[in-house]
Amino acid sequence: MKKVKILDKTFELYIEESEILRRITILGNELNEEFSDKSPLLISVLNGAFMFTSDLMKTLNFPCEVSFVKLASYDGISSTGAVKTILGLELNIQNRDVILIEDIIDTGNTLAAFIPILKEKNPKSIKLISLISKPKALKHPIHIDRTCFEIPNDFIVGYGLDYDGYGRNLRDIYVITN
Ligand code: IMP
Ligand code: MG
Repeated sequence: MKKVKILDKTFELYIEESEILRRITILGNELNEEFSDKSPLLISVLNGAFMFTSDLMKTLNFPCEVSFVKLASYDGISSTGAVKTILGLELNIQNRDVILIEDIIDTGNTLAAFIPILKEKNPKSIKLISLISKPKALKHPIHIDRTCFEIPNDFIVGYGLDYDGYGRNLRDIYVITN
């Protein structure tokens, strides 16, 4: 099994790039059906979602724009979690169809705080897409419209996802070994 060492931890191959891209193409085809007569705004959550957003966007054939937000979430301050927007939403999203793009939804703290902020700006619709989700870790009633991979509650890196800032450049996704 292919292994990588990042800082003090070892990770082993979990999802190959070819499988990631295969699922993204399926998702892109579904979006092409659903948004064929629309021109949505993709909102991608930095840092983790940059690679997924890039590959997904290349599969889309309807007119679309992309914008990025950077959020920092703080656990333990309140039960819902607090989120700080580090890089904001410059575009007016009123009456726009929005496709919100995450790399991974874990506890859901970040989105439980951010989705209400988006809704206050009165978009026409919000579709939530995440490359990966950890259903067992989810602590909030967040409706994820589409996810490419549901995984157990294990820590992963690669394809945009990091361990302490490193590992985002890996083409495949790796899972931590004990
Ligand atoms: P939340 O717990 O759903 O708020 O997750 C917030 C963020 O934590 C995600 O968008 C990721 O950036 C990061 N994250 C959660 N699980 C993992 C993981 O297994 N590997 C790397 N980053 C993760
Ligand atoms: Mg993220």
